[in-house]
Amino acid sequence: MADAIQDTFKRPLRDLRISVTDRCNFRCAYCMPAEIFGEHYRFLPKAEILTFEEITRLTGIIVRLGAVKLRITGGEPLVREQVDKLIGMLSPIDGVDDVTLTTNGFLLPQKAQLLKDAGLNRITVSLDSLDDTVFRKMNGNRSSVQKVLDGIEAAEKAGLQPIKINCVVQRGVNDHTIVDLARWAKDKGYILRFIEYMDVGTKNGWRMDQVVPAQEIVERIDAVMPLVQTKRNYQSEVALRYNYQDGGGEIGLIASVTKPFCGACSRMRLSPEGSIYTCLFATQGTDLREPLRSGASDDEIEQIIRNTWGTRIDRYSELRSEQTDEDRAEKVEMYHIGG
Ligand code: SF4
Repeated sequence: MADAIQDTFKRPLRDLRISVTDRCNFRCAYCMPAEIFGEHYRFLPKAEILTFEEITRLTGIIVRLGAVKLRITGGEPLVREQVDKLIGMLSPIDGVDDVTLTTNGFLLPQKAQLLKDAGLNRITVSLDSLDDTVFRKMNGNRSSVQKVLDGIEAAEKAGLQPIKINCVVQRGVNDHTIVDLARWAKDKGYILRFIEYMDVGTKNGWRMDQVVPAQEIVERIDAVMPLVQTKRNYQSEVALRYNYQDGGGEIGLIASVTKPFCGACSRMRLSPEGSIYTCLFATQGTDLREPLRSGASDDEIEQIIRNTWGTRIDRYSELRSEQTDEDRAEKVEMYHIGG
């Protein structure tokens, strides 16, 4: 396999996040607030969304350019019909080392085994609190905690391993419940990752005083279950890792606000309608659907991707404090490019 293409900071392309839909069955306030994304919100019509064949063709080209890890996302990827079929098309692509998926877990009881059989190795489930009132407040009252726990159990039964749990921590919203969540994940053997609340997109009304810094989260957990920091699994891994001193597993901290990790960022994102984005906080993408549907060759599409990544200068999180309101006002929405 040829060397991965590099950007202007010599960061190699290594990870591809594939958003298969802009729709979701939850309304998490930090991503898709219910008051904005109501029943009359116009999501992308089917004709504008890439088919599985188109996603697979583009992924093949992007893997040829260096991507080895694929993450299936959304919106909520499991609301798109037959995502297992897509995983069956992507897993065999030569050069792909790892296929994973991020979900809110609600549909896992029906889909976990199908995903596993199709070639999914492991899975990440979002669960922001074990407190049902807090959780419902955060997801737009679209699900109970128990429904997600049933989904996680189904993933475990299907043999998806490891199971990672993502928790977005917001001060004054769920931060008072993170120790309980950590104790539960430790007992279950799940890898819990706490995510600093981020100014993704333009709709969540983000303020810095709602962010609980990673260091504070570590101190709260360490106070009851002592932790020791350990190395990242690989250079561009987003999470800071901590092991429990008693050997009871690990937690991760995704500290985009207080400890940015742009220096090794190797992630490209493919949106449902076929545009590539080179940063979670990008203000614009590069359209691949139009050339794809107007007969461009793989080599022509490859050149567009090479140019896009080759001129990449993104490091939003390192420059966050220097952003103007204009810059902030243009950002792509997270639910559109899969976190
Ligand atoms: S802010 Fe952008 S460049 Fe920095 S780590 Fe996140 S996605 Fe990568």
